[in-house]
Amino acid sequence: MCMNPVEQIDAVIDHFSTAIDATDGLKRVQTVADLEPGVTGVAFDLEGARPLAGKAEAVATFHARGVRMMHLAYNRNNDVAGGCHDAPMRLTALGHDVVAEANRLGVMLDLSHTGEATSFDIIQASSLPVVYSHANPRALHDHARNISDAQMRAVAETGGVICPTGVAKFMGLEHPPSGADMMALIDYTLNIVGEEHVGIGSDMWFAQAGVDETPPGGDFDPHYWWPEAFGYDHGGDEALGGGYMEPPVWFDLPALLDARLGGRVADLILGQNMRRVAAQIWC
Ligand SMILES: [Zn+2]
Repeated sequence: MCMNPVEQIDAVIDHFSTAIDATDGLKRVQTVADLEPGVTGVAFDLEGARPLAGKAEAVATFHARGVRMMHLAYNRNNDVAGGCHDAPMRLTALGHDVVAEANRLGVMLDLSHTGEATSFDIIQASSLPVVYSHANPRALHDHARNISDAQMRAVAETGGVICPTGVAKFMGLEHPPSGADMMALIDYTLNIVGEEHVGIGSDMWFAQAGVDETPPGGDFDPHYWWPEAFGYDHGGDEALGGGYMEPPVWFDLPALLDARLGGRVADLILGQNMRRVAAQIWC
């Protein structure tokens, strides 16, 4: 949803709202109190501030439609914030208004895909915890999409959570990651920020017949959003190369976490930490 026009985003929200309502086991949630045992709660996320079309008031429109998390930039700079694959940029005056509006309404701010300088500005400007919902330690693999120890510590100090993600490219792997590969990220993040500030960033999608999120018209350029200079491979269907941690490996992860860290810490990482942050923000 980073590069799509507002009309397309409206249609996507309509489609998924209807589909979620019609599916047993899924429920749209607005607050943590809406969560039910055994039912997967779904809230929407905007990856990038472009859909706001230059207006901080637009945060309220998306909040009313079920958006409970947003990134202010997606890889590239915009009128609100800097992206991680663009020239360093500070949070703009409009960006400060957007942060204040997100705090007021209860929209969780996500710094994944955001440039480092803007990230520190958002951390300082936000009165509520902020998160990295899918970002890996740069100390383990030097990629601009990954984050420094200082970024991780600063997010933890807001009360927020850092969620390593099983994307091979951001782990320096040429193959889909194993559970052990994922544990290495989790171990490192735990050592930097502690057990109350680590989560899981799945960051996967699967092609589905009839679903195409490519923006209409001829001005969409994947080379702009995923630049070759940062190692994105546009040779095949998949811009990310190396693939993702596959679902069966994800399903094994709880047992791996439990064996290594014990049930209490495993539960924190598998969702309780993010739930704590959501409870602070989604009210
Ligand atoms: Zn993302």
